[in-house]
Amino acid sequence: MAKWYLPLVIAGLFAVAGCQVQQPENPVVSTLPPPSFTGPSMQPAAPSHVAAVTPVAPVQQRVAVATPRPGAHGDVPAGWVPVAATNPNQWLWIVVHHSATPTGGAAAFDKMHRAKGWDELGYHFVIGNGTDTHDGQVEVGSRWPKQKYGAHAKTPSEQYNQHGIGICLVGNFDVTRPTDAQMKSLAKLTSYLMKTYHISPDHVLGHRDTKSTDCPGRNVNIAVVRRMSMQMLADAGEQVPADSQVATAAGGELLVDEEKHR
Ligand SMILES: [Zn+2]
Repeated sequence: MAKWYLPLVIAGLFAVAGCQVQQPENPVVSTLPPPSFTGPSMQPAAPSHVAAVTPVAPVQQRVAVATPRPGAHGDVPAGWVPVAATNPNQWLWIVVHHSATPTGGAAAFDKMHRAKGWDELGYHFVIGNGTDTHDGQVEVGSRWPKQKYGAHAKTPSEQYNQHGIGICLVGNFDVTRPTDAQMKSLAKLTSYLMKTYHISPDHVLGHRDTKSTDCPGRNVNIAVVRRMSMQMLADAGEQVPADSQVATAAGGELLVDEEKHR
């Protein structure tokens, strides 16, 4: 009897031993490598990471237009990047002015504008000429961080105040010329704004292009401002925004402007 049962007992022992040996191995072999090396921990992580980055990229680009982040536009001063979010259709033009005064700066003009009963400095930016501020220094007006409409180019429709970024160069350019530093700063600022708000070269205007005025003076040629700004964008490898109207896309418009602004 014992002889007859023995193989069964031994077989049973092996079977149990086998299971016992394999059971601990099985979980180790089947669970450890997949999660820690081949798949689960690495593979889902990679696609989910990529998946998280890919859809965010276009969103970030759209957000960048609305709320430009420091560092997203090269080496522009932090103050140029507004704090408040921008309405996507807020800025359609850049309007260049001169102060028509030999000296000045944002503080002085702010005082002048408030004395006229305005809410605050009407321009968004002021570019100094070495009198109140350094030659070529760009001052950021109090409207800009708030992305507030301007008070610099009054017309019946108010479109240039509502949708125009006002830049004032200190000086009277009916009498003198903007300094090289002022022109360079203007081109840098203008190219940054063109790129950030997708403003085409033909929407970079002199104040006189919006109404009957001499501003920004007979010695400022807006065609030159456009050309310098576009060159800066090209040199930085940035796409130059196309003119808004196909009919004026060629150089003809600039030539017309040169005639008009001489
Ligand atoms: Zn003006």
